[in-house]
Amino acid sequence: MLQRMLQNIASRRQRREFEIQSPTAAKVRTLVPKCLVCNAGPVGHRFAEVASMPCNEETKPRVTAMFYHVKNHEWESLKDFNEFRADQDDAIAYAVTGPHETGMVVLIRDPVELYARVEIYLEETITAEEVSRIKNLVSEDKWKDL
Ligand SMILES: [Zn+2]
Repeated sequence: MLQRMLQNIASRRQRREFEIQSPTAAKVRTLVPKCLVCNAGPVGHRFAEVASMPCNEETKPRVTAMFYHVKNHEWESLKDFNEFRADQDDAIAYAVTGPHETGMVVLIRDPVELYARVEIYLEETITAEEVSRIKNLVSEDKWKDL
């Protein structure tokens, strides 16, 4: 009885993790159908959220700051931008790595409405040195297969 309950909890948790991860991967895959570095598809690539910020009147200056940090490749400055809100549009920066030392970053506006179009603000390639800097900021367990 107890064992079945525990199994049930475990499988529910797995399912939930799958549901949480998989739409994000699917979303990033549609945003980045081809890697800017190697021009290949998602296989062999990984991604992680580097920063997020809800878009509203109050956060406008922060969203603007986030945009310029990404544009200027100021990765360490993005450390304090982790305020995702599921009930609002969010600006999200993802880093993508692959079977190469360099990588890329994409900054999007992720709409709260499920079927609204995701807007791409910026797409940038990053150097190997920048990839390792971002890896220092985003822990290993936050990187997922693309
Ligand atoms: Zn690539």
